[in-house]
Amino acid sequence: MTDHRIALIPGDGIGAEVLPPAQQVLDAVGRRHGFGFSYQSFDWSCARYLREGAMMPEDGLDRLRDKDAILLGAVGYPGVPDHVSLWGLLIPIRRGFRQYVNLRPIRVFEGIDSPVRGAAAGEVDFVVVRENVEGEYSEIGGRTNRGFPEEMAVQEAVFTRAGVTRVLDYAFGLAERRGGTLTSATKSNGIVHTMPFWDELVAERGAVHPRVAWDQEHIDALAAKFVLEPARFDVVVASNLFGDILSDLAAAVVGSIGIAPAGNLNPEREFPSMFEPVHGSAPDIAGRGVANPLGAIWSAALMLDHLGHPEAAGDVTGAIAAVLAGSEVRTPDLGGTATTAEFTDEILQLL
Ligand code: ATP
Ligand code: MG
Repeated sequence: MTDHRIALIPGDGIGAEVLPPAQQVLDAVGRRHGFGFSYQSFDWSCARYLREGAMMPEDGLDRLRDKDAILLGAVGYPGVPDHVSLWGLLIPIRRGFRQYVNLRPIRVFEGIDSPVRGAAAGEVDFVVVRENVEGEYSEIGGRTNRGFPEEMAVQEAVFTRAGVTRVLDYAFGLAERRGGTLTSATKSNGIVHTMPFWDELVAERGAVHPRVAWDQEHIDALAAKFVLEPARFDVVVASNLFGDILSDLAAAVVGSIGIAPAGNLNPEREFPSMFEPVHGSAPDIAGRGVANPLGAIWSAALMLDHLGHPEAAGDVTGAIAAVLAGSEVRTPDLGGTATTAEFTDEILQLL
């Protein structure tokens, strides 16, 4: 029986409430398919930052290095600015472990109301691939003349041939495996250096993957189409900033932030990849045991897929779909009255 070594970072707020359900699901599905997990938990969080002045220890990455994957709950705490958790934990892990793909599956499930008319269950089923380590989120730039009328701020975006090519190859490969199409998000009409470069590389990689039909859309038009015709997409690839915006928009189209999963992938498996629900620490409901565990459970399914267990992953997403379609039991964010534990039990019964 293979044992996968998993690092758990529950984080803050409901992060600690949604990881145990994900673990229960992993253990159940592992028993069924003949593999197991060993877990090591790390208390890295905004709470730790407030106690000790850092989200994680100096040698944090070294402690994670020998793991097969990382499962993160959520980090965030009222009064701690977002950039602390971002630059103190998430970005060092993403960059340090070369997790250059941010994978965000988008699916409208039967039994969930999408705020978008015409976003029918079963028809909306696509993936946003976001470049996760370079692009618009760079530290290069600066501010001068503070307080003077001449004050200005400059922020550079960094797109490298190697960095763009690898994420495009991942996205084209995914479209190939799904037997689908690829849509590239651009803005080369307004951003005259980086985006034309991005477009050229899309065309170049498209030629290497001739079986995938691809097109490109300007980000403004693409955002509108996410709302107007979400069923049209299959794999959408975007830069760091565009992908960030598109994936949150798409998660809203689906109907609940409590369901959406994310994977931060190192496709070459040189380093552990990290899986996390899209939602934050939700301080408004933390401690009450009513958080929706599906985002974390679906993230665990992405992890199973990455660890080479696509059938087990399919069992988990199948159980999620079946419970949403066939059961009245659900957490308050989905209009029910169930607790996190009761909702998790519904899933476990199917596994
Ligand atoms: P953070 O600062 O950690 O990002 P946030 O408040 O900005 O937290 P979320 O934590 O994502 O962002 O919460 C946004 C809203 O969605 C809140 O009202 C929260 O209660 C709700 N929410 C988020 N995740 C869940 C969940 N898993 N189950 C139920 N409700 C959720
Ligand atoms: Mg937030």
